[in-house]
Amino acid sequence: MSPPSLIDSHPNLAGAAPVALSYELFPPKSPAAAESLWTTIRELESTDPDYVSVTYGASGSNRGTAVELINRLVQETTLRPLAHLTCVGSTAQELADVIGELLDVGVRGILALRGDQPKDGGLPAEGSLRYAQDLIELIRRVEQRRSALLCAGKVAVGVAAYPARHPESPSEAHDVEVLLAKQRSGADFAITQVFFHTEQYARLLSRARRAGVTIPIIPGVMPLTSVRRLTRLGELTGVEPAPELIERLAAAATDAERNRIGVAATVDLANAALDAGAPGLHLYTFNEHASALEVLDKLALPRPRRGIQRSAARRQLAS
Ligand code: FAD
Repeated sequence: MSPPSLIDSHPNLAGAAPVALSYELFPPKSPAAAESLWTTIRELESTDPDYVSVTYGASGSNRGTAVELINRLVQETTLRPLAHLTCVGSTAQELADVIGELLDVGVRGILALRGDQPKDGGLPAEGSLRYAQDLIELIRRVEQRRSALLCAGKVAVGVAAYPARHPESPSEAHDVEVLLAKQRSGADFAITQVFFHTEQYARLLSRARRAGVTIPIIPGVMPLTSVRRLTRLGELTGVEPAPELIERLAAAATDAERNRIGVAATVDLANAALDAGAPGLHLYTFNEHASALEVLDKLALPRPRRGIQRSAARRQLAS
């Protein structure tokens, strides 16, 4: 038997790692929406997240506004962007151009997604990529060609994972096989689709680990404060919201009461995921900060001390 290595016995490597924190934003659709988004961005920035993700329309429908928002995040804030990128309906060359553009503005994290199929049920455009897995391989190819430019930080590639079966998938077991295939193609981490039942994340994690998935699987949690949003998300993602929560939210006498119920339910969901071993938390903000910050406040996550140092550095810059 070999003796324990110097690394294994180092006291600083014992104990739990800090919990990762990130938020999802979407590119604004109007000047008024942009103004309120920037208020949200400043509020979220004060919590010093590890990154903020920026969504991307299927078929690149909002490429311009997505890249513009990412560019401003890089130029005007301390936030690190994680750029979502979808491959449905786009060719390898079109996507390689977008990947190059993202790397040029300083992006070092890409969430590689397929995107939802067009609703008209038409065939995908000739030469377009089929699965997220193809996009991961393309990102790695572009990265390899630029490896000399990336000596101070390679590209982290994330993928989607599903605590409740993906609507097109035959089974949850198939979803895990796809996740494993995405890991083998070069994914570094996964963020989950929304889920509404406390046991769903734990089940995904244990199925994935048994199948050989070793990458971090970060639960994506939305503030459960709006009946309208929960119902809409349920329809869009095929994930059924808990009927008892919908009933309690709908029966609330005031907005404040509804908010209290929703925030408490979100905190329970997040705590269940953390108890199951979640290495971080990704909050779907819908470009609003109030509920996300309330949830965060109640969770009191163990976070790196970097925030204090960075705020002090910012104050110094401003003075
Ligand atoms: P894939 O992993 O390619 O899976 C798609 C389907 O194909 C699944 O049913 C899967 O089981 C099956 N499949 C995959 N690979 C294979 C294979 N090799 N053989 C057989 N079957 C296979 N959508 C957007 O449009 N913009 C966004 O910004 C966006 N952000 C998202 C962020 C997160 C965290 C999540 C969870 C989802 C996001 N989505 C976004 C939605 C996502 O695009 C949809 O869920 C889409 O339907 C599937 O994307 P995927 O990357 O999981 O695709």
